[in-house]
Amino acid sequence: MKILVTGGAGFIGSNVVDLLLHHGHDVVIVDNLVTGRYSNLNPAATFYQLDIRSSNLSQIFEKERPEVVNHHAAQMDVRRSVADPLYDADVNVKGSLNVLECARKYEVRQFIYASSGGTVYGEPQYLPCDESHPIQPVCQYGGTKYMTELYLYMYRVMYGMDYVVFRYPNVYGPRQDPKGEAGVVAIFTGQMSRDETVTIHGDGLQERDFVYVDDVAEANRIALSLPSGGYVYNLGTGQPTNVVQIFDALKEITSYSKNALFSPARLGETRRIYLNSTKFQTETGWKPKTSLMEGLKKTVEFFRQTEIVN
Ligand code: NAD
Repeated sequence: MKILVTGGAGFIGSNVVDLLLHHGHDVVIVDNLVTGRYSNLNPAATFYQLDIRSSNLSQIFEKERPEVVNHHAAQMDVRRSVADPLYDADVNVKGSLNVLECARKYEVRQFIYASSGGTVYGEPQYLPCDESHPIQPVCQYGGTKYMTELYLYMYRVMYGMDYVVFRYPNVYGPRQDPKGEAGVVAIFTGQMSRDETVTIHGDGLQERDFVYVDDVAEANRIALSLPSGGYVYNLGTGQPTNVVQIFDALKEITSYSKNALFSPARLGETRRIYLNSTKFQTETGWKPKTSLMEGLKKTVEFFRQTEIVN
């Protein structure tokens, strides 16, 4: 089937694109390359360099007529959402609404959306969080990511559009930006490979749920065969891992010799969050298959190889 992937030049989106193409789907990518890269683009996909906020987006829908939209384009940096909440809302709310309006006008059958389980629940009342946990984000990004979930619900009630919301945990793996502000695995791997001092914000005991990107891509593929409806699913291992544990594991894999530097915790960060994904697992048979150690090794190997290539 023809699937339009927004953010398909980014970290997660490009891994989703590769898997969809591998399974014989026809893929169209819309990405403005603000954080995405040409080198992530699969040449078998049709690529449009465009901002999701652009009024020209409808021309792409008119021409391509996708059956499914997989929406990954976003401002995805918590710190930037705190520093520049207007930009965050512009991309994540207005941009998403523009994509959704095009999907409605051009009768897209299903809308798959990458939301954020790490931020929409805020500081959890219980752990691991399931989908019924109250929504109480403590950063602007969590709020704007949730807003699109609300629009999807409205569009289902009003227009009958099928949708799948995935609330992602901390996704890591090949192509995550090692120079970015988000994604501790990629950042630490990059710093260790350049033998730079690694900085841990806060005491490093903040807990997260780390899922390897291939497992997330597989969930996006499985979503295509869900029966008509509106679904909200957490993805996650249900297991907490703290930042110091990630540092120690990467230190071992990369044979890094320095100690970490600790700096003050950053505004808008949740202390502990890990997700119960039993609902999606039970309904579809999906499982996060890649163990943390295996995923970290694959990630380090990817960065080693791309450093040689570049
Ligand atoms: P990323 O920055 O690598 O990917 C985002 C992509 O969207 C990039 O290719 C970027 O160029 C594109 N983009 C951004 N603004 C755009 C705009 N205005 N118009 C067109 N394209 C635009 O980030 P990622 O980690 O791959 O995140 C992908 C999605 O998953 C995002 O929606 C993010 O909120 C969500 N998510 C990610 C994580 C994670 O752990 N990485 C966790 C929860 C949710």
